[in-house]
Amino acid sequence: MATRAAKTAITGSSVTESSGTENSVSDIWSAEELTEVRERLLAEIDELHTEILRAETELAAGNASEGAGDDPADAGAKTYEREREIALTLNARDVLAQNERAIARIDAGTYGVCESCQRPIGKERLQAFPRATLCVACKQREERR
Ligand SMILES: [Zn+2]
Repeated sequence: MATRAAKTAITGSSVTESSGTENSVSDIWSAEELTEVRERLLAEIDELHTEILRAETELAAGNASEGAGDDPADAGAKTYEREREIALTLNARDVLAQNERAIARIDAGTYGVCESCQRPIGKERLQAFPRATLCVACKQREERR
């Protein structure tokens, strides 16, 4: 730390330039790291496809068995189950779309840049939430709205 500060002091000319970019040094992604994130996202897409397919098959089966003869309580439980299944499917589809968007951003070379303020989102945050499109500050601002 101390040597770094001393170096900056010696160079002198880069003082105005270096202020503000200090944090972004660790936010540069290597090709290997991007490949790793991409693979993680792709694996999740696979899982989500399976999950959606399973839920839709179940929903279709539920539709077929529904009908005359059910007592009202049973029908109510089925409706609840069905609505829950639909909500889960919608959520899975949403996450899947976000994953696909993240991969598109990796391919476009814009991955890791906040969509709101255009500053680096931060590697740590992205390794925890690979789908994040906003930096912590922008995300918090959005949630407060
Ligand atoms: Zn931001």
